[in-house]
Amino acid sequence: MTGMIDPFGRAVSYLRVSVTDRCDFRCVYCMAEDMTFLPKAEILSLEELDRLCSAFVRKGVKKLRLTGGEPLVRRNIMSLIRSLGRHLKTGDLEELTLTSNGSQLARFADELVDAGVRRINVSLDTLDADRFEAITRWGKLDKVLDGIDAARKAGLHVKINTVALKNFNEDELDRMIDYCGTNGFDMTLIETMPLGEIDQDRTDQYLPLSKVRERLEKAWTLTDIPFKTGGPARYTQVEETGQKLGFITPLTHNFCEGCNRVRLTCTGTLYMCLGQDDAADLRAPLRASEGDDLLESAIDEAIGRKPKGHDFVIERRGDAPALGRHMSVTGG
Ligand code: SAM
Ligand code: SF4
Repeated sequence: MTGMIDPFGRAVSYLRVSVTDRCDFRCVYCMAEDMTFLPKAEILSLEELDRLCSAFVRKGVKKLRLTGGEPLVRRNIMSLIRSLGRHLKTGDLEELTLTSNGSQLARFADELVDAGVRRINVSLDTLDADRFEAITRWGKLDKVLDGIDAARKAGLHVKINTVALKNFNEDELDRMIDYCGTNGFDMTLIETMPLGEIDQDRTDQYLPLSKVRERLEKAWTLTDIPFKTGGPARYTQVEETGQKLGFITPLTHNFCEGCNRVRLTCTGTLYMCLGQDDAADLRAPLRASEGDDLLESAIDEAIGRKPKGHDFVIERRGDAPALGRHMSVTGG
């Protein structure tokens, strides 16, 4: 095992894989209602995704997160998850996890546990059914809450991801902290990021988490804790509930220094940074031969140009997004 070290000395040990760009929701900050999805021919097969992920595991990836789009709407996704579970059994991989919108969890929770998944992030921005339909355009809150419940009962550790949105869920965050406390879930608040054309102006949605925290501290005692995942979240402990509350502030804080991750899309494109356009095509070397030598050197070459950091800004009204690609391409 060699391990992947980038030019700034950071070890890359975390791979996030968007297994599909499709989704059964159309969250307003993520997608336009009439999204055009990739033609099926461009998408890697589940076997190809397995080969790619396994190459990364050989190279030192310890944590693998499947995301999307909605990972659980990809047909036969459990076969990939079960197959990747073999790396947990050998100890080469430490964690196999997912980020999901929760809509299919009632169906898959037990199978996920069976495949070796122990924790899951579920995105939930509101506990109000009408607001939920407004923000996801197509989603049903009950179905998601049932899914979350099924995950908890199956023994999965659930973390709730909530995007903080101006004039939308600001007034509800206390209630959500309470819900997470009651159910034993950690929670992470996320600032909106300027990724991809959507139907709305992003300055209408942007809510700085520094403001949110100030407000939450009127009701809750938040103690900073040193807990780190190598990602952009800063964690606090909510003393009243005993659960963790994380803040992901890509726009107000620079978190690039400790970055340990790269992102792979369902077409085999590797993004070395969420906030930069530079990417490496791994599909061509993957398909060029049955052996993995070409693929492995393409991975090395890509890691060799992982940039130092990103450069997001949401400032002037009506500005084009900082990056043209949607979150559903790289999976966040
Ligand atoms: N469909 C799954 C879900 O919703 O959890 C996985 C993919 S989704 C793109 C991953 C995360 O990105 C979700 O928590 C979602 O809220 C977040 N997200 C999407 N677009 C975003 C944006 N423009 N800014 C910040 N977070 C965003
Ligand atoms: Fe789908 Fe997740 Fe994007 Fe919402 S945030 S549209 S659930 S991919």
